[in-house]
Amino acid sequence: MDQMDQKLLRERESKCIQENPPACTAGCPVHVDARGMAKAVQKEDYATGFALFNRMVPFPGIISRICNQPCRQTCKRNEIDESIFIKGLEQICVDNNNTAPKLLLPKAKTQKVAIVGAGLSGLTAALELSRKGYKVTVFEATDRLGGSIWDIAENKLPRQLIHNDFEIIAKFPIEIRYNTAINALDSLSAEYDAIYLATGFQLTGNSDLGLELASDGKIKVDLISLATNNNKVFVGGSLRREYGHPSPIASIADGKIAAISIDRLFQNASLTANREKEGLYETALYTNIKGIKPEPMVIAGDSDSGYSKTEAVQEANRCLLCECQECVKACEYLAHYRGYPKRYAREVYNNLSIVMGIHHANNMINSCSLCGLCEQICPGNLNMGEICHEARKIMVEKGKMPPSTHDFALRDMQFSNSDACALTRNQPGSSSSEWVFYPGCQLAASSPQYVQQMYSFLCERLSGGVGLLLGCCGAPASWAGQEAVFRETRNNLESNWRSLGSPKIITACPTCLSLFKNDSPDMPVENLWTLLERIGLPEGSTQLAKTPQKLAIHDSCTTRYDAEIQTSVRNLLGRLGYQIEELPLSRETTVCCGYGGLMLYANQEIAHKVIDRRINESELDYLAYCSMCRDNFASQGKRTYHLLDLILGGGEEDLATQAGPGYSKRQENRAKLKQTLVREVWGEEVAQPQAEVKVTIPADVLQLMEDRRILVDDVTNVIAHAESSGSKLKDARSGHYIAYFKPASVTYWVEYLPQADGFVVQNAYCHRIEIEG
Ligand code: SF4
Ligand code: SF4
Ligand code: SF4
Repeated sequence: MDQMDQKLLRERESKCIQENPPACTAGCPVHVDARGMAKAVQKEDYATGFALFNRMVPFPGIISRICNQPCRQTCKRNEIDESIFIKGLEQICVDNNNTAPKLLLPKAKTQKVAIVGAGLSGLTAALELSRKGYKVTVFEATDRLGGSIWDIAENKLPRQLIHNDFEIIAKFPIEIRYNTAINALDSLSAEYDAIYLATGFQLTGNSDLGLELASDGKIKVDLISLATNNNKVFVGGSLRREYGHPSPIASIADGKIAAISIDRLFQNASLTANREKEGLYETALYTNIKGIKPEPMVIAGDSDSGYSKTEAVQEANRCLLCECQECVKACEYLAHYRGYPKRYAREVYNNLSIVMGIHHANNMINSCSLCGLCEQICPGNLNMGEICHEARKIMVEKGKMPPSTHDFALRDMQFSNSDACALTRNQPGSSSSEWVFYPGCQLAASSPQYVQQMYSFLCERLSGGVGLLLGCCGAPASWAGQEAVFRETRNNLESNWRSLGSPKIITACPTCLSLFKNDSPDMPVENLWTLLERIGLPEGSTQLAKTPQKLAIHDSCTTRYDAEIQTSVRNLLGRLGYQIEELPLSRETTVCCGYGGLMLYANQEIAHKVIDRRINESELDYLAYCSMCRDNFASQGKRTYHLLDLILGGGEEDLATQAGPGYSKRQENRAKLKQTLVREVWGEEVAQPQAEVKVTIPADVLQLMEDRRILVDDVTNVIAHAESSGSKLKDARSGHYIAYFKPASVTYWVEYLPQADGFVVQNAYCHRIEIEG
């Protein structure tokens, strides 16, 4: 993948904010993973909870008792009822932990650091710097560690906890000089490479320190790095009050900030660059709290000893385990791979970067319906469809797209645009057209009779000549990432359109419409439904509804950004006497029917999940205005009308139950439509292609072929090839012939038996393995 592609994909990936920390973590000065702790407490896994806590807090026993919890201000639960009592969860983890953290002592470095004050802040800095190998000496004015924490009452902070927490200091090569007050920095400066004054900002007016003072008389400090005007002196800590209380956790945070600054100083790195996420900040994580019921905070039976295990689990269960996942909740495809787009995007890059080896993400890249719902839902507007589409194009360009993935759809498209089905005509008696009807290949395949009826109605109702263009708009090539094929298809379509005098195009298929609008803005287009709203419905259609019914509307995903077509469909339904139910996801948040992006061909399992979810959203009969949507829903047993069923279907209620035609029949319908129209409308005869061999296919074999996307033509070609070349095997036991043929990238195998006037097919299957020799 070249630099440019990488940059584009990275930009897209960065829109997913799912990996941003929850509000509690961003609101904790040292970023404790309270969500992870809550999850651990829910499972009564206190060791994991403790490890998460201790990863950020060097003195877990002390903090679990005295933290002033700034995180509770930001906790998302606050917006519903009351924030999670995070300190209570910390305490239960500390009290029930029986593991000891592993300590790794790094290689000693030469730089020396002096830390003034052995309170929480100074000791934190000492530990952090010692962990990095620096030589640390702590100067403490009294004879013990801990500074002002000893002022806290014992029932709030048991002394044993303090002793336990400070045991860690002795495990590092940290020198402590007790009873050593520091009143001037000169001697320290001479001996040490950096100094951290952990006695806090309240150090005022001490001119012996030689540090610049602010107007309030306190030492002037850069709050990002804790640097002073003396480049080797940093100041912070001492239960600072910045967060509204004397805050022990803020003192610890200062210790960490000072340690990072000192490390940067030693590495000659910037003291201030990229430090926005230290201390408190606002997270970009979005968490939807709609529908979450209020539940009051659990109060500990005994406030000094904290939550019992039952109480802790109860409180942990109140945690929302904040995350986004909005798109994943709405999209079966995204849910199928058990992750979220940021992670998927990374898998996509890896996939595109591998030269050799297995491309694990091919299936994922090719299974998305490219419907764009995720972009609509995502707070950062990430469009996974764009990522997959881009990846498909790159794979095709680099020759990495497995040829069989989209083979069927591309051949189907070619067939629609071949002489057998495609047609470009002016209205009989006209040499140019003001309008041209472009029904699209799927309506021609599903309901060819409607194409004929609607064309005749449009000719009758519109003046200036109505031409007809039969063919495929190129959507399958675009979805498959086959840019060259797509361009060629569009160019041919455009030149056919020009040959009719560049008329205004009337589309009956929402996908064709969206391609005209987005890809060919110079070709004027109007959708059939808006046009019908304007010019009126065919006579008699408004009386067709035998029992006026309420229908649930399914908007095609390609109409997502086209409110005009959606509104026209609703208005027409009203005129036809139907009431409307809006599905939970409709209009700009509508979902795909499982066909878009060639999902149905790449991954039937996901496509069926998509269809199942959609058809179970309402008990009512559905109304679709795309043939593929209608046929997909009906194929899974959902009563679904196409809008043209209601306009031209003669009031037949059965139309809602009819499964669409199979793949072979769809092709046959397109070819027959052309023949019928040419004969009946233009009065010409079309030569019928003669089948080379006559094959009979029993119903069960036909169904198998349908499932395996094998056409009757494919089977006929195999038998014709075998019979003319003699390249076939005979199974001695069954007497069946077995033969294969590979017209393009897929090899078809057929088992058949000769009979008096042709052949009976026993079985058919296909694969993409090369047959050698
Ligand atoms: S609900 Fe849980 S995860 Fe969300 S902010 Fe509060 S503590 Fe953190
Ligand atoms: S909606 Fe999806 S893509 Fe967007 S931030 Fe959330 S998880 Fe990420
Ligand atoms: S199927 Fe649609 S909603 Fe799901 S990831 Fe693809 S484009 Fe997004």
